[in-house]
Amino acid sequence: MIRPDILNELGLSPTWRLRPPTPTPTHPVRPAPARSVDSVVADSADAAVSVRRSPLAASNAVPVSEMDWDSLREIVSGCEKCNLCKGRKQAVFGVGDVNADLFLAGEGPGRDEDRIGEPFVGRAGKLLDLMLAAIGMKRGEGVYIANVVKCRPPENRNPTAEESGACMPYLDRQIALAQPRLLVALGRVAAGRLLDSEHSIARLRQRLHDRGGVPLIVTYHPAYLLRNPADKRKAWEDLCFIRKVLRGEDS
Ligand code: URA
Repeated sequence: MIRPDILNELGLSPTWRLRPPTPTPTHPVRPAPARSVDSVVADSADAAVSVRRSPLAASNAVPVSEMDWDSLREIVSGCEKCNLCKGRKQAVFGVGDVNADLFLAGEGPGRDEDRIGEPFVGRAGKLLDLMLAAIGMKRGEGVYIANVVKCRPPENRNPTAEESGACMPYLDRQIALAQPRLLVALGRVAAGRLLDSEHSIARLRQRLHDRGGVPLIVTYHPAYLLRNPADKRKAWEDLCFIRKVLRGEDS
C-alpha cells in the first residue's frame, strides 16, 4: 500500500487505488531478466577513477555502440564533443541498477547534479524519488536513471539540438546495455529526443510507444510538476500506467 504521506506530497488526496489486475497479462513486454546485484552509482570517487583511466584510450579502442559500462562511463567523463563540457564540474553519467526493468530518462543535469555527479538529486529529484515510491519502486533497485545530455547546460536552459545530438549515442548505449522492460521519458526534451517527435507531453502521454522494440511511456518532468502542481494528478495516472505495464497488466 502507498504511504499517505507520499500521496500527500504528490498532491494526491483523497487516496484512491487501482482496480485489481485483470487475470490475463498479454503485453509484449519481455520477461524480467535475472537481476544483477551489481549497481552503478555515479559518485565522485568513481568519476575520479574514470578520468585517471584516460577516456581517449577507450575511445580509440571500441565504438560507443559496442562499449561496456566501464568504458562508456570513462568516455563520458572526458567527453568534449560539445561546448557543454566547458562549463561542467563533472559529467553526470547515470545511476542505478544496470539490469533495470525501468529506465528513466531526463533532460540534463542541473547545478546540484553537476556538483554531486548523480542525476536528479535536487528538488526535482526528491519528487522523482517520491513518484517512484508511489509505485513501490526505488532509485537503484530495478531502476536506472540517466539524462539526454550528461553535462549541465548553462543557466539550466534546454540543451540545443546539437548538444543532445552529440550526447544521444551515450544514452542509446546505456539503454542497450540495461535492456530495460520499459523506458520512461521525463518531460518534453527527453520525449522529443527518444521519440524523434515535437508533440507536446499532453499528446504523447498515456500511450505505449515503441522505441526500437523497447516500450516507452512519456510523462511530465518532475521540475515541471513542481511549477505546475495541478498536473500531479495526471502524473499519477502516468505512474499507474507505468506500474501496469511493468506488471504486464496493460492491454
Ligand atoms: N533535471 C533533469 O532532467 N535531470 C537531472 O538530472 C536533474 C534535473
